[in-house]
Amino acid sequence: MIRWASEQGFVAELEGLYEGWRPDAAPAPMVLVANASLAAELGIDPTWLASSEGIAAVLGSEAPPHPTVAQAYAGHQFGNYSPRLGDGRALLLGEALTTDGRRVDIHLKGSGRTTFSRGGDGKAAVGPMLREYVIGEALHALGLPTTRALVVIATGETIARDRPLPGAVLARVASSHLRVGSFQYAASSGDTDLVRRLADHAIARHYPQCALDPEPYLAFLEAVSVAQARLVSQWMAIGFIHGVMNTDNMAISGEAIDFGPCAFMEVHDPRAVFSSIDHSGRYAYGQQPGIAQWNLARLAETLLPLLHHDTQEAIRIATEAVENFAGVFRHEYLSRMRAKAGLVDPATPGEEAAAIVNGFLALMTSHRVDHTLGFRSLSGVLRGQSGAFEALFANNEDVRAWRDRWLTAVPADPSMRLGIADGMDAVNPVHVPRNHLVEEALAAATAGDLAPLEALVDILRVPFERLPDDERYLLPAPDGWEGYMTFCGT
Ligand code: AMP
Ligand code: MG
Repeated sequence: MIRWASEQGFVAELEGLYEGWRPDAAPAPMVLVANASLAAELGIDPTWLASSEGIAAVLGSEAPPHPTVAQAYAGHQFGNYSPRLGDGRALLLGEALTTDGRRVDIHLKGSGRTTFSRGGDGKAAVGPMLREYVIGEALHALGLPTTRALVVIATGETIARDRPLPGAVLARVASSHLRVGSFQYAASSGDTDLVRRLADHAIARHYPQCALDPEPYLAFLEAVSVAQARLVSQWMAIGFIHGVMNTDNMAISGEAIDFGPCAFMEVHDPRAVFSSIDHSGRYAYGQQPGIAQWNLARLAETLLPLLHHDTQEAIRIATEAVENFAGVFRHEYLSRMRAKAGLVDPATPGEEAAAIVNGFLALMTSHRVDHTLGFRSLSGVLRGQSGAFEALFANNEDVRAWRDRWLTAVPADPSMRLGIADGMDAVNPVHVPRNHLVEEALAAATAGDLAPLEALVDILRVPFERLPDDERYLLPAPDGWEGYMTFCGT
């Protein structure tokens, strides 16, 4: 059974931000993957979830005891404003409670056309929905806040893409589906009361401490800013490129959401882009902090009437809050990068640590070193086993100079170095979703073989430790994969 919340807060409090809607029926539903650990958090028996009763509940064909709705939102897509996006192929099935009392959304993707579909078919293909499952589980295991797939169900339909593909519905769990674009939609309706209700709802749901602040809406903007700084600093640390950081794909909760053309970077390169439609590199790896701040500025604009009755004063307050993102981000980012490089001695000044980290990133770029392998190789050096490091970095003047400077900042005591090396291995993964393996697993699944996908996810659930027989999961794509692209035609 799904433990629905008795109060469906979004529907109860935010009329004007949704349309009641029912999902399409799936002609021949078949569970492709069911997320047992996430089901357990929700108090759902995984056997029930895979039963015909469970499938009917999670697809919404057996209606829950409350309305299911398509959520309205606007958004800047690649910088261009669309006033009406909304759930064009998705529905909020409802708010459920976890066994430890947290409120989460269960949301369908690929459930058919809605009032927001514009020209789209409302459907989703098996591959992209399984990609959401793989990426969400990987990020979760790496310790990032993220939406996660509860179940992916093949519908039995064939859908038209560049070629005919099997259709699927994803049921995903998120702490909510409030987006920057939700605020943009409310604000562009011109109804300040709706913006206020939305902000109050978001505060109660995600940042309850802000309600006690003398300036609750400013506190809210600052809290979202901190949550985004944390999230994006974690992306940067693990080499993750979201790929479509449109304002409608930025969650107010600070969870990672809507994985389309996302990828883990291999060669460390600030300009790395994988999305086939991102021609200008707007959402390249190194652009992500700046884009997060740009998106926060769009959120801040929607809150102006709540920040001060005098518009000029409201703009001043909002601008200051948005500008503060840069400092918060720098702090979050540097503390994560220090941990990755073993620069945990508080005696090392921040500027020196930043210079060492930046020097290492520049070396990885110039030597074309894989981000994941590069960071993981550093702990070996501290253990007196430099083989992995030396295999990645040619022994030249730059490398020697960097290594000397780095080692000067790490305590010389061998037993302390061993402890630091263990700490580094706890934050520098060995297992990330390698693009060629994700593609291989999705292609096999689309053709009906789920075994490679299951094996991949099992490995990704243990990101920081070597496992028996994991060799093929460790390395970047073989030659010929350079220029790898993922596609938005999801
Ligand atoms: P996304 O790129 O998935 O974040 O989606 C951006 C917008 O396009 C959202 O409003 C989606 O609901 C809508 N959309 C994406 N794919 C489809 C589709 N196949 N049918 C209808 N709407 C879609
Ligand atoms: Mg989206």
